[in-house]
Order: sequence, then structure tokens, then C-alpha cells
Amino acid sequence: METSIQWLPEIFDENSSLKFRSPFHTFLIKVASLCNLNCSYCYVYNSPDKSWEWKPTFLQDVTVNQISFRIREHVIKHDIDEITIIFHGGEPLLAGLDRLKTYVQIFSSVIPCKVLYGMQTNGTLLDKNFVDFFIQNNFRVGYSLDGPKEYNDKNRLYHSGKSSYDDTVRAIELVHSNSESLKTFGGLLFVIDINYEPAEILNTIKELGVKCANLILPDGHYESPPPYLSKNDLKYGKWLYDFFYLWYNKYPEIEIPYLEQIITMMIGGFSSAEEIGSLSVDFIVIDTNGDIEAVDTLKIVGREATSLNLNVEYNSLDDALKHPAIFSRMSGFNSLCKECQACEYLSNCGGGYIPHRYSKENGFQNTSVYCNDLKYLFLKMKEYLFVKQ
Ligand code: SF4
Repeated sequence: METSIQWLPEIFDENSSLKFRSPFHTFLIKVASLCNLNCSYCYVYNSPDKSWEWKPTFLQDVTVNQISFRIREHVIKHDIDEITIIFHGGEPLLAGLDRLKTYVQIFSSVIPCKVLYGMQTNGTLLDKNFVDFFIQNNFRVGYSLDGPKEYNDKNRLYHSGKSSYDDTVRAIELVHSNSESLKTFGGLLFVIDINYEPAEILNTIKELGVKCANLILPDGHYESPPPYLSKNDLKYGKWLYDFFYLWYNKYPEIEIPYLEQIITMMIGGFSSAEEIGSLSVDFIVIDTNGDIEAVDTLKIVGREATSLNLNVEYNSLDDALKHPAIFSRMSGFNSLCKECQACEYLSNCGGGYIPHRYSKENGFQNTSVYCNDLKYLFLKMKEYLFVKQ
């Protein structure tokens, strides 16, 4: 059960973890282990964890039944009213409409509470039949696109090297073509590249008619830092502040959850995002072979960071609650290193996103690899929003 990675401060013992363990409400289910794109920054295929190579290509019915049973057990034990199941991959649309229909039919018939469905996709395979399925089952679907064509094509290509831009844009336009399908739109997700102007990204989002788009910082940690990151020049902090300034003043009609969460925390509220703030994380990943895993972006660290050595065939979801990789993410500020706990921006930041804190020496007991840039962003946002000009 225990891994050699240091997930928590040394003073944190088994007993102190008990009060932080809370049931899971969101289940990120891997329905396809392959993808039709080969994005250069992908944490599944272009990372040290190569477990996708030996996992089933698609989630099989026998595994869906086992997962449903485990979720049912968890829902009954913890008296849960509502859960969210997010279909994920690889590329989840590769599973095809018939499999997706079967998955929903099994989950909805076995799990004895309200089930909300979601998906994160590159959209390239989307057609009207998928959209109708999303409408019928009240899905909320997120689409990945990094911005204008030139920018998107830098990283998001098919295996053949062909651009995926037009296909994803076609999907976004299809979903925006009528009010019913628009209800299934869960937002755009884009990975930032500081070589491109914030205005180009915001213009593209606006031109597509998208009303919600979230930014992601490139993956990285102390052993494998994000591209262009340097302690001294604060390139990311400056880019993020420029993006904030432009969005706040020129594009307020577009929701940018990452920045909105920071503002919410600055006025005393709480973040509902895992990437920033101290939210107690209540989601779990289940892979196509039934493995119960920690947050999948930890694949950038290596297999040892995501694998819990648990599988739905043999283990309950409560078994996962006992693993430090899981309850460290449920314990908010308590799981952070001393420097974060003493930081003036702790309530705005929460140590940033967990994969960004990793080093071989200290495990996750570090500040974010983006720490200096985040501090710059918080300082500049605070000055702009709350200090009289
Ligand atoms: S700004 Fe840096 S030190 Fe402060 S909480 Fe965030 S990562 Fe930790």
C-alpha cells in the first residue's frame, strides 16, 4: 500500500489522516486507453508512465459492471445523493456510441443515486449521433483546443502529423448550432504557451462563440521543469497577469474559471478547482483495466505516483481512501510543505497543482515549481483589483 514517495509532512501520522478522509463524489472513468491525436505535452502517452501500453484498449462490460458495483457500494455506505461520472481517455469518443450507451445504461441502472455525466474530448470524432446521445443523457462535455490554428498545431497533431484544429473547431461549432446541444457544452480547455499573445487566445475563444474556457499551465515539476520556466524572469507570472488584465477589461463575458477562482479566494471564498486553492479533492480515477488510481496528471512523475495497487475486482473504493496519495489531497493545507503553510498567498494558492510540487528528494513536500510566478500573479492581481490606482 505505501509508496516510497513522500506525500505528506513527516509530522502527519495515520491517525491525523482519519479526519480528512471523505467519500468520493466524482469518478473519472477511462473508457479508452488510446488517442487518435499525439499531443506533444500529453501526460498519458508522452510521460514516464507507459502503463497505457498494456491496458485494455476499451473498458469492457465486465469491468463496467465491477466499477458500477463498487460505486454502488460506496454510495450506499456513505449515503450519497448525487455523483458525477466523467468519461475520459485517451480519447473517449474512440469507444464509439454503442459502448458509451452500454456504459451509461449499466451505471444508471446499478448506482442507486442521481448520476450526472461528463466527458473531456478532443472533439475530432464528434458527430450528430454523439451530440444527441449527450443531450438525451444530460452530459456536460469539455473540448480541448489551445487557441488559434498556428498555436494549436504546435502541439495538438494527429499521429500522421496532420493538424487537428479544423476537426475540433467543427465539433465546437456543431455543439453551438442549437440551444439544446449548447446545454451539453462544458467549456473549452487550453494549455498555455507563453510564446503566444493572450489576445490571440481570447480572440479565438470569442470568435468561436465560446462562453467558458479554462487555462492549464504546462505540466512539469522539479525533475522535469515546464518549458521556458526560469526563477528569475517570471515569464509565466507576467504572461498570466497580461492574460488576466486583458480578460478582465475586454472579455468579461467569457468565464475563465482558473482566474475567477483566484478572485473568489481573494475575497474570502473557496476554490472549486483542484489546480489552485485548497479544495478537498473528492474524485478518483478508474482505468480501463479496473485499476483504482490517483489523479492521472501524476503520470508526469512516473508510475509510482498514480498506481495505488488497487483494482475494482478486489478492492472497495474505501480502500483507496486509506492511501496517502488520496487522503493527502483531501487534507487541504495540512498536506503542504512548511514554506507553503507559512506563505502569505496560501489561501489564494494552496500550493498550486499537486503534480507541479514533485521532486525526487522531497516527494510532494515542495512549493509549486511555478511558485515565484504564482506569487507575482497574486500580487499583481491584488494590486489591480483591491488597491486604489
Ligand atoms: S505561492 Fe508558492 S509558497 Fe505560496 S502557497 Fe503557492 S506554491 Fe506555496
